[in-house]
Amino acid sequence: MKAYSNFIGGEWVAARSGKHYLTSNPADSREAVGSYPLSGAEDAQAAIAAAKKAAPGWAAATPVARGRVLSKASQLLETRKAELAQLLTREEGKTLAEATGEVQRAADIFRFFGGLSYTHGGQTIPHDLPGNLLYTVRQPLGVVALITPWNFPVAIPAWKLAPALVSGNAVILKPASQAPALSLELARVLDEAGLPKGVLNVVIGEGRAVGGELATNPAVAALSFTGSHTVGNQVYQQLAQRMARAQMEMGGKNPTIVLADADLDLAARLVTTAGFGLTGQACTATSRVIIEKCVLEPFLEKLVARAQAIKVGNGLHEGVTMGPAVNQAELEGNLNYIDIALKEGARLVWGGARMTEGALAHGWFMQPAILADVKPTMRIAREEVFGPVVAVLAVENFEEALAVANGVDVGLSASIVTRDLKKAMVYSERIEAGVVKINQISTGLALQAPFGGVKKSSTDSFKEQGVGAVDFYTRVKTVYLDYSA
Ligand code: NAD
Repeated sequence: MKAYSNFIGGEWVAARSGKHYLTSNPADSREAVGSYPLSGAEDAQAAIAAAKKAAPGWAAATPVARGRVLSKASQLLETRKAELAQLLTREEGKTLAEATGEVQRAADIFRFFGGLSYTHGGQTIPHDLPGNLLYTVRQPLGVVALITPWNFPVAIPAWKLAPALVSGNAVILKPASQAPALSLELARVLDEAGLPKGVLNVVIGEGRAVGGELATNPAVAALSFTGSHTVGNQVYQQLAQRMARAQMEMGGKNPTIVLADADLDLAARLVTTAGFGLTGQACTATSRVIIEKCVLEPFLEKLVARAQAIKVGNGLHEGVTMGPAVNQAELEGNLNYIDIALKEGARLVWGGARMTEGALAHGWFMQPAILADVKPTMRIAREEVFGPVVAVLAVENFEEALAVANGVDVGLSASIVTRDLKKAMVYSERIEAGVVKINQISTGLALQAPFGGVKKSSTDSFKEQGVGAVDFYTRVKTVYLDYSA
């Protein structure tokens, strides 16, 4: 077990309370993974003070100099990839292959923004008069806060941190308490890469106490949040009161439409990967399959065969393709949603049972679940489950499929499986989602492309990822210069 501290002002420090807590391995809850400070508002205040002190110096460094630190961090992350992936699997539960991919993603993100530092700047705009220069510059906001969830414990901190830092801000990061190790390892890597003291501060602790301070403290100019809608909504209200800049990215209820002309093998493969991969614990996971009735049964047969072939177990073990739920509460939440669906009239086609045999006895394991006869009004068709549970809704035609897909109050990722180019394009135009995938999994994002939801999935004013990610972390200033006289 590793003993971690907060990272404040470039030092590793205990929580003011002197208290700590332990995380455990979701594949075997008897194994403690890390010990962490149980921080509160005072620790957050200390981090904000350290960030405030460091912000002017970091803002004064050129973007290229800042980018060099990110590029170096990328190299260090790659060097430590195997070790960090193991740690991620032990704390969050995803398979080692998934964790390795995630650490690589973080390294790629730092490399991308390190390179982008060479283009970090404004625009020159033609003036109406001769002898005049009109241009914009990008300036950092000062101190910004990041609040992140447990399901991508290194990729999400990385995709917020890299644009925040390259833009010249000082940062306080508050990762989720369930899996904070990778955020602290990121701090270690950035420290080693030469990030000045106080530019990054990481505080571990209870969401309401630490997160609440970050949301309400007037020294924090902006806050980027990823997590549940309930918490995001609450934090957004706190930020709105003081008119601070906010970016809230929240959950989805992502549909995959399967049309009658689809390659059903492909459809079953895509739904298996996007619905059960990462134990369904991805904000972009497929949780609704909306399928034309005439192909329902052959599709279900193929989907069940693939679900049965999934090997559930400890993500560190060879051959395992699906890890446990992150903790007991999430597992029970998943099982409870299956019960509710059955009570509301859904049919359990396969899976959905807790798994406790042999080596699985001490972990939070379940079989992937496929529910059919789901109606759009049922809770299983409307609410995020955040586990390996796929609800299948049968419809008459494409128009009905589109209406059902859009009939929820969230819109993050959406996919369609079809050979009909016209319907695919109409879908991409009319689906209410931030990301549309055609003949692809609903999960999986290109780090160089914008990402964010619509409707209740996001505040939808700034995108994450891609070159535009720096927009949230910078202020554009317009300069008029007259040299005609
Ligand atoms: P969560 O909302 O419970 O927690 C998110 C973060 O908020 C954690 O760091 C938590 O400690 C903190 N927090 C909790 N209460 C707080 C409060 N009162 N004030 C301030 N901060 C507080 O979410 P989670 O369970 O960690 O993550 C799962 C959710 O995240 C799912 O809904 C999932 O869809 C969503 N998610 C969205 C995206 C996206 O990009 N849209 C990506 C990943 C996960």
